[in-house]
Amino acid sequence: MAFLVQLEAVDVSYGGGDQAVRALVGVDLRVDAGERVALLGPSGAGKTTLLRVIGGRVRPTRGQATVLGHDVTAIDGRAGRAVRRRIGTVHQDLALTGSLRVLHNVNGGRLGMWPAWRALASLVVPSGRAEVEAALAAVDVGDLADARTDELSGGQRQRVAIARLLLQDPDVVLADEPAASLDPELGRLAVSLLAERVATPGRALVMSIHDPALARAHCDRIVGLRDGRVLFDRPTADVDDDALAEVYRR
Ligand code: ADP
Repeated sequence: MAFLVQLEAVDVSYGGGDQAVRALVGVDLRVDAGERVALLGPSGAGKTTLLRVIGGRVRPTRGQATVLGHDVTAIDGRAGRAVRRRIGTVHQDLALTGSLRVLHNVNGGRLGMWPAWRALASLVVPSGRAEVEAALAAVDVGDLADARTDELSGGQRQRVAIARLLLQDPDVVLADEPAASLDPELGRLAVSLLAERVATPGRALVMSIHDPALARAHCDRIVGLRDGRVLFDRPTADVDDDALAEVYRR
């Protein structure tokens, strides 16, 4: 059976020679459809690099990375774009345009699928309004389509960003510390929306999380990283305090 994400013995080094930084060392990771995987580890452990490998933005120095059945080191051009379109990334700053109505921001989730003329035309006559409203309703803000994005509360903006992701309908969702730049309540909201509304049975979610309690509450599996190596990769229920202490040991 094919996994949505399959990394085998992946090394990533930044720079070369004596200055090389080994960001990932011999990393194996498999993520199946429907799984919600948290990456835990101290700053510098390699979490962002791992997400960038899966997203096709960093090439492994060694090893194999297969995402959606494609070797990410071997795809370029049109095939690369087609694969990347099926990968959704959650940006820490949400990447919404404040001056636009919510409708247009959510429609942004489909821009990669549309020819340029249609994307431009949608700014004048929004297409697919029903789908946008359905995506907004899935995150409990179905009545906000016509609101100006910069007039929303932080929690509403978060829901709008996630509705855009739902409209993109990616198979693999990547999030790098989605709670990090937020106050605790919004941080919990971001993680719970991703885990409960986005990670439906057909999709895989991989997110780095700072707070082990959030990872435990919302993810099926936890991967502990330290110095670029996987220390453990277990179902959440099997991750005890000793395992966490080892990851964060000073
Ligand atoms: P984390 O997300 O867990 O904080 P990163 O993947 O960002 O870890 O970083 C892993 C290691 O790689 C760190 O030592 C970091 O300094 C280094 N690193 C990350 N990105 C770069 C880069 N573009 N150039 C050089 N070193 C980098």
